[in-house]
Amino acid sequence: MKFFIPLSMVTERGGNSDPYASLAHGAVYGPYESDREMRKAFARLGASDRDKKLALVFDGHIMPIEQEAMGKPESEKSEPGNMDNYIADEDNIDKFRCKKCHAVIMGAVVSHPIHLRSMPGAGSGQCQRETVPYCPNCETKPDPHGAPVYK
Ligand SMILES: [Zn+2]
Repeated sequence: MKFFIPLSMVTERGGNSDPYASLAHGAVYGPYESDREMRKAFARLGASDRDKKLALVFDGHIMPIEQEAMGKPESEKSEPGNMDNYIADEDNIDKFRCKKCHAVIMGAVVSHPIHLRSMPGAGSGQCQRETVPYCPNCETKPDPHGAPVYK
């Protein structure tokens, strides 16, 4: 798909005729299926843009930026829940940030089934929940099914 930004060739008062100077406040037009479509659109530009005989033309496409690209692959991540890897946020005391990548530390709820000590392997059906902190970039997400606790 084609896009374009009209470039102004009008020499500004300071003698500045750099066509790229208009990029900073230039709107992007598009997308257009073909060169022809794009030229037609350029011809239809409003009066203020019509004296612009140049355009920066480029091809573009839409792609999803996956969260994974910002962090490490799952296999290289470290164990979650180590408070030594986090620092308190300067602006918000309730928030922690990762020492390595500065991402906001997330909390994952882990539920531990409560097992009775008197009957090994038997669960009472009750759970004990805790929130385990982890860095979404550097650490693996805690398993929501934690190890059993004994009472
Ligand atoms: Zn991190």
